[in-house]
Amino acid sequence: MNHETALAKATEIADRVLVPAARQNDKEGRFSTEAVDALGRAGLLGLMLPAEHGGAALGPRTAAAVTAILAEADASVAMVYLMHLRAAATIAAARPGAAVVPTLQEIAAGHHLSTLAFSEAGSRSHFWAPISRARRSGTSLRITAEKSWVTSAGHAQSYVVSSLAPEGLGATNSTLYLVPAGTRGLSVASPWDGLGLRANASAPMNLDDCEIPSELQLTDDGGGFQAMLEIVLPEFNLGSAAVALGLCRAAVAATAAHLKSARFEHLGQSLGESLPTLRAQLATMQIDTDGLSARVDDLVDHLERPRDTTLLRVLETKAAAGDIAIDVTSAAMRTCGGAAFSKHTSIERLFRDAHAGAVMAPTGDVLREFISRAILGMPLF
Ligand SMILES: Cc1cc2nc3c(=O)[nH]c(=O)nc-3n(C[C@H](O)[C@H](O)[C@H](O)COP(=O)(O)OP(=O)(O)OC[C@H]3O[C@@H](n4cnc5c(N)ncnc54)[C@H](O)[C@@H]3O)c2cc1C
Repeated sequence: MNHETALAKATEIADRVLVPAARQNDKEGRFSTEAVDALGRAGLLGLMLPAEHGGAALGPRTAAAVTAILAEADASVAMVYLMHLRAAATIAAARPGAAVVPTLQEIAAGHHLSTLAFSEAGSRSHFWAPISRARRSGTSLRITAEKSWVTSAGHAQSYVVSSLAPEGLGATNSTLYLVPAGTRGLSVASPWDGLGLRANASAPMNLDDCEIPSELQLTDDGGGFQAMLEIVLPEFNLGSAAVALGLCRAAVAATAAHLKSARFEHLGQSLGESLPTLRAQLATMQIDTDGLSARVDDLVDHLERPRDTTLLRVLETKAAAGDIAIDVTSAAMRTCGGAAFSKHTSIERLFRDAHAGAVMAPTGDVLREFISRAILGMPLF
């Protein structure tokens, strides 16, 4: 698989599997196992895994483009995919001796979905500071934790879980573990019923004295924080911006379609022909969407060729993307009026889905705090 074939496969799955089901899955809050199966069969679950494990070894450029294509059709599926890619990367980067090869091979073969279980009820959006603490039990570890939101909860085959290291000192001294779905004590705490991204099963999960064999410890003791910052964060922020971009593109397309098809029959014109104010709104949406696209490309370039400005771009791109997605989908709601409000179009789903990005960690507020600290030369944590 190369960049072009990956995009072609994503487009085919988006058209055949995601688009026809997105509205009903959103309405019912139904997780799309069909979408995950299709992504697996197409080899897209192993998109970024090394070739030695059967992966396609493709980089952030392709991952962002695939994620945006999926998001344009159904942002819930795109977020499931993004969480999986970051979890898979964390598993692939496991410390020497970790028993992860079978999992990586299953992912590459398209049979294994993974996800991140970082956020905890006690530390909320401060995912870098888990409250739970693993404890040693012979050669194993035992974890009890309240994970407050886990995308793909109950549907993933494994979970990349954070917990404070048994002997760690300090709030960020965490370790990451691979927790298989069937682990005794692991459960979905309550159903997912969000405002948006309703079809991605982002439910709370509990770990009740779960036993984790030491071979499934992914990082060294206390190495979780570094893995979160170096392996998860940069491409999570890129992927989150790609989800926002897909939502913006969908909002522009749905608005344009409505302005062309809805008519003032007494004037003999479509809405778009009749009202310059609506055309101006559409143009602003397009400007913002292409601006976001340029930001995504810029971050891809910074990740491919890291330099002094890379950290700022990682932080800025997600912060900007969250706001732009809300602005563009809000403009679409206003432009399409009562038809959008009454769910005659897909726009209100896009509007609801767009509000997740800014509240998902690192939140837009937290990113602003980090950006300003970086500019002022202050420590980020
Ligand atoms: C759809 C969805 C899917 C998710 N999936 C996952 C997942 O798969 N895995 C996972 O680990 N988590 C996941 N999360 C959790 C997410 O990453 C956040 O942890 C969660 O949204 C935080 O919500 P909260 O109410 O606890 O925020 P709070 O921490 O209570 O924040 C409340 C407000 O305070 C602001 N705030 C917080 N700290 C600061 C600060 N230092 N400076 C300035 N402002 C601040 C926030 O921006 C926010 O506006 C998901 C969340 C959603 C909504």
